[in-house]
Amino acid sequence: MKDIIVIGAGPGGLSTAMLLAHRGYNVRVFEKQGYIGGRNSQIKLGDYSFDMGPTFFLMKEILEEIFTETGRNLEDYVDLIEINPMYRLKFGEGKTFYPWSASEKERMIEEIERVFPGESGGYLEYLRREEEKFQRLIPCLQIPYSNLADLFKLNFIKALPYLDAHKSLYTSLGRYFKEDLLRLSFTFQAKYIGMSPWEAPGTFSIISYLEHKMGIYHVKGGLNRLSHAMAEAVVEDGGSIEVDCPVREILFEGRKAVGVELADGRRIEGDHVIMNADFAMGMKKLIPDALKDKYSDTNLQKKKYSCSTFMLYLGLDKVYEDLPHHNIIFAKNYRENIADITERKIISEDFSFYVQNASVSDPTLAPEGRSALYVLVPVPNNKSSIDWEREKHSYRDMVMRALENEGGFEGISESIEEERIITPADWEKEMDVYLGATFNLGHQVSQMLILRPHNKLEGYENLYIVGGGTHPGSGLPTIYESGRITANLIHREV
Ligand SMILES: Cc1cc2nc3c(=O)[nH]c(=O)nc-3n(C[C@H](O)[C@H](O)[C@H](O)COP(=O)(O)OP(=O)(O)OC[C@H]3O[C@@H](n4cnc5c(N)ncnc54)[C@H](O)[C@@H]3O)c2cc1C
Repeated sequence: MKDIIVIGAGPGGLSTAMLLAHRGYNVRVFEKQGYIGGRNSQIKLGDYSFDMGPTFFLMKEILEEIFTETGRNLEDYVDLIEINPMYRLKFGEGKTFYPWSASEKERMIEEIERVFPGESGGYLEYLRREEEKFQRLIPCLQIPYSNLADLFKLNFIKALPYLDAHKSLYTSLGRYFKEDLLRLSFTFQAKYIGMSPWEAPGTFSIISYLEHKMGIYHVKGGLNRLSHAMAEAVVEDGGSIEVDCPVREILFEGRKAVGVELADGRRIEGDHVIMNADFAMGMKKLIPDALKDKYSDTNLQKKKYSCSTFMLYLGLDKVYEDLPHHNIIFAKNYRENIADITERKIISEDFSFYVQNASVSDPTLAPEGRSALYVLVPVPNNKSSIDWEREKHSYRDMVMRALENEGGFEGISESIEEERIITPADWEKEMDVYLGATFNLGHQVSQMLILRPHNKLEGYENLYIVGGGTHPGSGLPTIYESGRITANLIHREV
């Protein structure tokens, strides 16, 4: 059977490794860090446990299908917990809104009428039209785009009237909601791909819709358990995963990938090489200069990238029982905050942030009576000139004040037992994320579908990519889908 080399054990690498190992390929995964999961890994601080990155498990059906295809049941490996109401949205003006997923439609209607009287009709229209859009769009996201002809396939043509790619997400949702804050409640999800509702194409209303349609799940022990379950499946099907094992370079004969050289000097031959490392960082570091062409360092710099995130992981000696699992606190002037992040690339004094207070639904993350708190602040990527080494402590203090004053976490400063910070500079230096752009290449129209790096990387033979940098894009469900697309491409070609 053919030998497959996977560079990186993030969600993308693990999903493709799982499928190919089950189909009988000889799969070897090499992971640079001493742990698996990439950005979806676990952080341990004393007795506290945190997810490093993803905390919203959306569209669980895709991973369930991958498990089913390999003869498994996802729920035999992990315990899923639905979070409903999905989150607390606290707006600058002081209003607080608790949206429910569509499985609790009546409660959602009541909640809309409580906070935005007279607007629930727009919600019903949103559910109706977005379902049509979802049905048309999903098949388009499950196939590769490698040439212009792919844009003329029947599925894509049927989806065209629903793409809304010529309008911004924010404008596009105006067809349902008059109230600005309600519109914001259905568009802030653009941040999940590191973009702004005013910049992301209207196509991305699909993110908030799939959240409303299918709900948001937490995984007992953290979403990193998903990565562990996938790694277990790879090994059960005969694959191997070596950690602390960085790949130094991809080896080529002409333009054909034939293997990898590891940092320890070993040269491993393979029939197909799959790169899961962050796309731009992988191109920069792993491909010989003479073969980079359209993805040369200069061209990579010209591409658009998502924002970054400033992270705080706090082990607390108490539990904020009255505050929910997911909390999103908006800046007083959200639009200006977004412009600071994406255009001016400066630190916002008036900023939005997200807090995961997961211990209220998952007691396994901290000792009894204690809690693990995760704070994410969207900030500019490293195209900014912010010196994070210099700024990080004063920035951390500003976030702590916001947690107390705006977030409702009273007395939090006195409750901290463990603490870790990750800055945009750390994402880049320690986690190999290009420009610290945590949600990868941007999802502008100019970088989507055929214009995004192809799953079978254009210009090379036997070299594939998986993860947030290729089609369909960043976010766990789409990344798992990229793994499935790549596995299918290889299986079809062999
Ligand atoms: C803070 C944050 C919050 C997020 N929240 C959500 C969320 O709530 N829901 C959601 O769906 N998505 C979320 N995402 C987005 C996305 O789901 C994750 O970033 C996801 O982990 C990306 O997966 P990936 O496979 O593309 O890459 P990664 O997870 O980055 O995996 C790449 C792997 O390649 C390894 N690697 C790199 N170079 C080498 C080398 N030379 N040799 C060997 N290995 C190498 C890396 O160490 C890493 O393990 C979030 C991301 C972040 C950062």
